[in-house]
Amino acid sequence: MTDQKLIDYIHQCREFKISDEDIVRNLLSVGWSHNLIDSAFAEISLKFAAAKEILIAINNLSKEYELSKNIKTPALKNINLDIYKGEFLSITGHSGSGKTTLLNLIGLIDFPTSGEILVNNENIHKFKEKEKVEYRLKFAGFIFQFFNLLDNYTALENIIFQLRLQGYGRRKSKEKAKEILKFLGLETKANSYPKELSGGEQQRAAVGRALAKDSFLILADEPAAHLDSKNTQNLISLLREVNVKFKKTIILVTHELNYAKQADRTVELKDGAILEILQNSSPHI
Ligand code: ADP
Ligand code: MG
Repeated sequence: MTDQKLIDYIHQCREFKISDEDIVRNLLSVGWSHNLIDSAFAEISLKFAAAKEILIAINNLSKEYELSKNIKTPALKNINLDIYKGEFLSITGHSGSGKTTLLNLIGLIDFPTSGEILVNNENIHKFKEKEKVEYRLKFAGFIFQFFNLLDNYTALENIIFQLRLQGYGRRKSKEKAKEILKFLGLETKANSYPKELSGGEQQRAAVGRALAKDSFLILADEPAAHLDSKNTQNLISLLREVNVKFKKTIILVTHELNYAKQADRTVELKDGAILEILQNSSPHI
């Protein structure tokens, strides 16, 4: 039986936005054992698991790329996976294991060879063209490896641009964009162009652009590939904060296990198939 005091303490810290890593560090420093801390985190995530609701159901999904008439590359083989509302899921695996393909299929950037992806019980690949545009615009926010910011727009304007696409008026967009920059700690960089920002700042602005969407899903494909380890950790913590504060479901693709493990669950792909699904009961430290 886990000490209830410990569980209450963890909940309280999370409410104050203290990272899981810091919570564990604090608990260890006042003498709690690794075992007790682990089981408290495990109990919290089990309760979360009991209450979970499926957002994305992936059923028998396969994707083959046809290089020429007779040469086909199987990129995904019969994937079955449920992703829950509010979950922070990571997808890991070696280069070429199918991570990007899976993310692109969920983001409606590509179409499957067979199988289906249901989002809120609807088969997204059967959407009409107009619904697809709506889905890409409003449902799924992408964060890419090469930040993909608009070079000739400032950080503020990049976010305003996204809000305008969503249909917000000029004044409301500016107001909302400023709030987002403040949340990201980028308010002093509002008028800087991407080339005047560091890699870490550019990626934070890209997170801001994803936040500007009224989407409840954020898809991040190796977002830290061009960041150093400090900025990478900041980015992963920021994604966790976005997950908790804005209740966004996050799918993070990363080949680095120590970052992948900071998500609620980790799916490992190998040669286009699911090798393992890990429940991360306590953060990696
Ligand atoms: P990962 O993101 O894990 O590195 P990918 O999803 O990009 O893997 O690729 C999975 C497999 O599909 C690889 O063998 C890759 O070469 C192949 N592939 C990916 N995209 C294409 C494409 N557009 N055309 C042909 N083959 C592709
Ligand atoms: Mg990839």
